[in-house]
Amino acid sequence: MFNSNIMKYAINLANNTSSLEVPVAAVVAIGNNIIAYSDNRVERDNIGWYHAEFLSINKAVNKLQTKYLDKASIYITLEPCLLCSALLERVRIQAIYFGSYSLQSSSLTKCLHLFPYLSSNTIILGGLYDDECFPLIKHFFEKLRCEY
Ligand SMILES: [Zn+2]
Repeated sequence: MFNSNIMKYAINLANNTSSLEVPVAAVVAIGNNIIAYSDNRVERDNIGWYHAEFLSINKAVNKLQTKYLDKASIYITLEPCLLCSALLERVRIQAIYFGSYSLQSSSLTKCLHLFPYLSSNTIILGGLYDDECFPLIKHFFEKLRCEY
């Protein structure tokens, strides 16, 4: 069941991330209990796949000592990329809630046919907090464009 407080927690994390990072955050929860969370750490750790989803899923499976998160939901401020979607397929996540749709052509809902587990078993709800989440990304890239 979607919990708006957990989504707000993710939005708050994304709002407070380093100004170097694309402002995205993810929270893994079982029911109303937060298991793990992260923001993006691509620039700070200089690792291209340190997306918020990747890091929060890593923390959750380590904490729970399990390879499947089929009782867990992930709350993300932005629709997951192809890499993170594959990861969510692999851990059999129960639900994916994201704040804003991605404009990338390889994002989850545009590539759902690649993920049979997600498409038949996982609750996927997107665009839930578009008013708050889309400007985060938009302003970040506008600022970046001004600087270069
Ligand atoms: Zn990703």
